[in-house]
Amino acid sequence: MGSGLWDTHVHLDDERFAGDRKEVLAEIGREMAGVINPGCDGASSAFAVELAEKYPWVYAAVGWHPENLTELPKDYLAKEAAWAEHPKVVAIGEVGLDYYWPDNAPREVQKKVFKEQMDLAAQLHLPLIIHDREAHGDMLELFRKDAPRGLEAVFHCFSGSVEMAAELAKKGCYFGFGGTSTYKNARKVREVMLSLPKELLLLETDSPYLAPVPYRGKRNKPLYTKLTAQNMALLLGVSYEEVVAFTEENTLRLFRKIKQPLS
Ligand SMILES: [Zn+2]
Repeated sequence: MGSGLWDTHVHLDDERFAGDRKEVLAEIGREMAGVINPGCDGASSAFAVELAEKYPWVYAAVGWHPENLTELPKDYLAKEAAWAEHPKVVAIGEVGLDYYWPDNAPREVQKKVFKEQMDLAAQLHLPLIIHDREAHGDMLELFRKDAPRGLEAVFHCFSGSVEMAAELAKKGCYFGFGGTSTYKNARKVREVMLSLPKELLLLETDSPYLAPVPYRGKRNKPLYTKLTAQNMALLLGVSYEEVVAFTEENTLRLFRKIKQPLS
C-alpha cells in the first residue's frame, strides 16, 4: 500500500464510478493507505462491505442517510448491528440530519432515526460518521441532550461555525475536511480548520461529489485527497508530510478497528 494518505469518506458505490471503479480502486491501493466507504441505505451498505472484503485497502461503514428514510426497513438497526460484526466495518454511517432537501423525511423522523443510530454506535463501541446539512441547531441540541456516554464521531464535510466546532470538539468529535476547504468562497470552513487542534482533523473527499480545486465541478476521486492535504499544509503552515502523518494517526485512533488483526 502507498503513503499514509486516508480518504475517510468516499462513495465508491456511486454510479459515477461505474465506468472505472476497478481502476480507481487499483489507484487507491497503489497511491494511498486506504479509504473508508460509508453506506447510505441497505444496498449501499451491503456494497461497502463487499468492496471491503475484496480490497485490503477499503474499509466500510454502514448506516441509513437522512435522505433515505422514506423506505427505512423496520429491522434496520439489527441489519447494521449484524454488518458491524464484520472485522472491516469500522463505523456506523453515514447518518445525520438533512434539512436542505424538501423531499426528505420529516425532521422528527430524521431526529429519531439519527438518535437510534447514535445509540447503536455507542453500544457497539464504533464511531459515528455524521452528515449535517442545514440542521446545525437541532444537531447541537441532540449532542447536548442525547449523545450517549463515550460516543465517538466525525462530522464529515463540516459546514458549521467555529463556535459549534469548538463545542463539538470538547465532546471529542473529529472533523473531516475535503474539497470544499479548497474553494475560494469557503472561508468559514478554513476558519474552522484553523481553530481546531490538529488531533481532530481528518481528510476526506466525499467522492464522487465536491472535487477540490482545480477539479471543482468534475467527478471527485479518492486520490484527490492529496490536493486537500496540500491545501491543509499551506493553511496550517506545516509540511505536506506532516499533514499526512497526523491525519493518518487521527484516522487510526478514531477508526480503531482498522488496526485490529483480521480474524
Ligand atoms: Zn457522504
